[in-house]
Parts: sequence; C-alpha cells; structure tokens
Amino acid sequence: MDCVYKNPNAPIEDRVKDLLSRMTLQEKIGQMTQIERTVATATPSALRDYSIGSILSAGGSMPFAKALSSDWADMVDGFQRVALESRLGIPLIYGIDAVHGNNSVYGATIFPHNVGLGATRDADLAQRIGAATALEVRASGIQYTFAPCVAVCRDPRWGRSYECYSEDTNIVRKLTSIVTGLQGQPPVEHPKGYPFVAGRNNVIACAKHFVGDGGTEKGINEGDTIVSYEDLERIHMAPYLDCIAQGVATIMASYSSWNGCKLHAHRFLLTDILKDKLGFKGFVISDWEALDRLCEPKGSNYRYCISTAVNAGIDMVMVPFRYKQFVEDMTFLVKTGEVKMSRIDDAVERILRVKFVSGLFEYPFSDRSLLDIVGCKLHRELAREAVRKSLVLLKNGKNPENPFLPLDRNAKRILVAGSHADDLGYQCGGWTGTWHGDSGRITIGTTILDAIREAVGDKTEVIYDQYPSADSLAGQNFSFAVVVVGEPPYAESLGDNPELAIPFNGSDIISSVADSIPTLVIVISGRPLYLEPWLLGKVDALIAAWLPGTEGTGITDVIFGDYDFEGRLPMTWFKSVKQLPINAGQNSYDPLFPLGFGLAYNKKKLVE
Ligand code: BGC
Repeated sequence: MDCVYKNPNAPIEDRVKDLLSRMTLQEKIGQMTQIERTVATATPSALRDYSIGSILSAGGSMPFAKALSSDWADMVDGFQRVALESRLGIPLIYGIDAVHGNNSVYGATIFPHNVGLGATRDADLAQRIGAATALEVRASGIQYTFAPCVAVCRDPRWGRSYECYSEDTNIVRKLTSIVTGLQGQPPVEHPKGYPFVAGRNNVIACAKHFVGDGGTEKGINEGDTIVSYEDLERIHMAPYLDCIAQGVATIMASYSSWNGCKLHAHRFLLTDILKDKLGFKGFVISDWEALDRLCEPKGSNYRYCISTAVNAGIDMVMVPFRYKQFVEDMTFLVKTGEVKMSRIDDAVERILRVKFVSGLFEYPFSDRSLLDIVGCKLHRELAREAVRKSLVLLKNGKNPENPFLPLDRNAKRILVAGSHADDLGYQCGGWTGTWHGDSGRITIGTTILDAIREAVGDKTEVIYDQYPSADSLAGQNFSFAVVVVGEPPYAESLGDNPELAIPFNGSDIISSVADSIPTLVIVISGRPLYLEPWLLGKVDALIAAWLPGTEGTGITDVIFGDYDFEGRLPMTWFKSVKQLPINAGQNSYDPLFPLGFGLAYNKKKLVE
C-alpha cells in the first residue's frame, strides 16, 4: 500500500496530512463545498468536475414523495460511486436533518421532537433515541445528521422552539447525551475536542446552531441575541462544552447575530472561542445559504461574503446551489491572498479528519442489512416510551380531591374530537416528510384516535367528530370527551408567532364540548400556547403532549392509567404573551405554570 491515507491502520493525523499533501487547490475547495441533492441529480458532472465533498438533502429532499430507506440508499450509493471514481477517491459525506428519527424516510420511527424530550429530562432515553436514529439513518446510506439542536429557547414565539430541549441550560446540557447515542461512546482517554464516531452503526452528529440562536429578541428567527459575553457563555454556549466533550464531529454556525454581528462572520466566536479556547477539532459547517445572507440584498457581493465567513472559521459551506460561483470566487480569493492557504488547509484537514474518523474511507456504501431495522418494533417501543415520559399533566379534575384521569377504558361511549385527534402529520410537526411538515397519513404510525380505539374495551363505542357543535352533541350520551387541539406543522421562520393562540378555533371547540361533556384536552404543540383564562376552569383535565411523533399509543398508555405521568414542563407556561420572554429565575416570575411543573397520579406535583 503506497499511500498512507489509504492505509486504515495508519494514525489518522498521518492519513490527513498525506492526503492533504496530494490535493490540488480545486480539490481542496471541493471538499469545503456542500451542494443540494437536486443539484447533484440535475448535474452529475458537478460532483466530478468540481470534486464536491458533500451533498445534503435539505428538508429531506428526494425526487419523489414517501421514499423508502432502500430508495435513499440507492441514491446515496450512486453519488458515492461517482465520488470514489475521482482522482484521489475521497468519499462523500451525505447529510440530512434527522432531527427526531430519520424523519425524511417513509416508515421510519418518528420520536418526539426535542421539546418533548426536554419534558422527560431523561439523558439515558435521549442516548438510546440517538442510537436508534443512527441505525435508521445509516440504513438509508446516509452518514451525517444535522442534529442535535442544542439551542436554549428563551422565547416560545420563536418558530424553532420545538427543536430545543428547554429554556433551561442544565436540561439542555443533560440531553446532549444524544450525541453519544448518534456517534457512539468515546473511550475515557479520548482527546478533548477531537471528533469521535464509533463505527458503521453510528452517524456524524452536528451540534447547532452556534451560538445564541434561542436567545434572539422577541424570539425572531435568525434575529439578534443581545446579551453580555458572560450570559452568552453561561446560558447558550454551555451545552457545546458537553457536545465537544463527547467528541461531536461537527458544529453548525447560526444564522442569528450576537449583539449585531452575524455568527457566520464572527471570527472571535468561531475561531478564538470555539476552536482555540474550547479546542474543537471537528469541522464548522455553515447553515443553508448563510453566506448569501451576510450581505444586503441577499446574494450580493458573494466574494466578500465568502472571505468573511471562511476567514471567520467556517470550514464546510452549505452552498447549496451556486457551487460554480463559490468555487470560482474561493479560488480567486486564495490566489489574491484574501483567504490564506493555511486557512484552506486547516478547513480541509478538519473535514478529512471527520471523514477518516467516521470510517468513510473503509465503508463508503450503505449497509443493506440495516434495512429491516427501519421502523422496527423495538424502535417503535422506544418512541412509545419517550411519548409516555414526555406528557405533562397540567390539570386533573376540577377539584384535586376528585381526579378526572385516568379515563375508564370500558366507558360506554367516548367522544374524540379536535383538529389533532386523527392526524399523524400534525402529531409529527415540522421536519417530517417535508421541511415544513404536512397534514394526514404522511407515514406509518398511530394517531391518538387510532390509539384510543386500540386501547378501549370491546363494548366501548368511540365516536369521532372532528369539529363538533352544540347541535351535533345534543342528545348524545357520552361518558366523556377527549379533545385534541394544537398547532399545525411549521419550520423555522414559518413558525414565528407573536400571538400563540390555539389555531383552528381550538378554544371554541373545547368550549362547545366541555359545556356539555366532561372533557380531557390534549394540546399538541411545539411550545406553550395561550390558554384563555376561562379554559382552565372549564376543562376537567389538561395535558401538554408536545409533538409526539408516530406513536400515539404512548398517550393512551398514560391516560388510561397503565403508566403514570412523568413529564415536567421544559418551558415556562406563560399567562399572557405580554409576559414574554418569561424564564424561570427572573424577578417577578408569575407564570401560569412554572418551569418544571407537572402533576402525576401518585404524587400531587412533580415540581422541581
Ligand atoms: C436550518 C438548519 C438545517 C439546514 C439544512 C437550515 O435552514 O437552519 O437547521 O440543518 O437548513 O436543512
């Protein structure tokens, strides 16, 4: 074997140095370039002619809907074959947003979104979910997920609140254990800051979005986080320390700004702090088209944007479409000295290091033996456990001495109602099937209505009426009603919302049902919603179920009393949007329910 870099037994740093020394400038810039799947499909020569190092499927982009894991594996392997035919045979990294399971694949297990995991506070559970997700991602030939989001969400008006575990830094820190699930457990002697990916059943993780994305003014997506350095470090940066300690291989920069300066242009934070002070040796990836957003109007003065971001410390650029321009401009900038060759070499070393560490050179293709694991019983059981543990009981009975739950599974007639009672897409939320999520039977799973039908006795009649009125309810003899309301799916800025009212006239439906029938309300949402003052008094029981994913059975496990409630609020439940941002620890903290609140059958309160 003449090339050191091809020798799997050579030390990784030797392989990196050897390969780097053989690369042309164009090959180096190619490694720093990540293009969108649609570009790679439409222009197969892009990979070859530009030595592209990475592809992503943004929001799960695929040539057709409901693609199975085997379809994905065929596609990714096809791209990989082209990459391996290149002069040096450097394998591609294929990236996807598997943020709650491998959510772009039809039939994959969809776990609760992060806000639900925040309610569980269960580090071991998060780690097991990470490991299961890694297997389902690997089954589709993909080796890289843009997860976990370790933002500390300080304002529920933010459209990405549900991608966060909590408003509380310590809860977020605890759940970074998902990194070890995704990438595998590094040995104790593993050097700090050095990337670690255990093997073929693991994936490269990406802690995002560095840093302060959850602290923007008024919760505006991609906005400005105005805090002192001490607060930035204490509130928002701390979870990255845990991710780095676990060997997280990549970190994504945030679209947001810190005190007016965009993170993608922030050399102090990306280089002086993240790489030098915290010792991060993996690669920093830009966010989608984030370089284009460094200038106004968007996309202008691209050359300036590239030099600013790369000099600030961005190593791989999610271009994702203008790859020719990017490569041309980058080449120009190196030739003129505006970007130093040493910066390019540093970026490429970091990317190659991750490619070697993750075993890509030895195992570049998908492992078809993993296909059976996608959406398997074991993973669905795990997701069901996560749903059970994520439920937060906010009210149980009009009078605490007379609890309303658990429900009687042998009741004669049950009414199930509301916009979210029988909608799998709504249960999953954004980043599922498509970027913004969808309504309906988007994948395989169990809605809450399905789960109720499964859970009740043979003689129990379950009547489903999505939007009942006082008239349609008149004269019917229901034992009780389960009304499921909540938010439709959304992603990123689409979800920014200053009002946070219950959509689809949710309050009116609750009111018309609860007027005549004892009612349990389940809220499916990515964050606390505004509850009108009368609502809490009128309903008999209230549960926050977050965005539970495909396993609606986790909800019936608890409401019929087979399991107790364990979830506690990961975010403060505000009384009025005028209070926002409201976070535990503030002076004059006066929430509807505090951070950590949650009732249970066996204990009256679970407040921390
Ligand atoms: C989001 C990232 C995501 C990327 C790729 C961006 O719009 O901010 O979180 O990883 O798209 O899909």
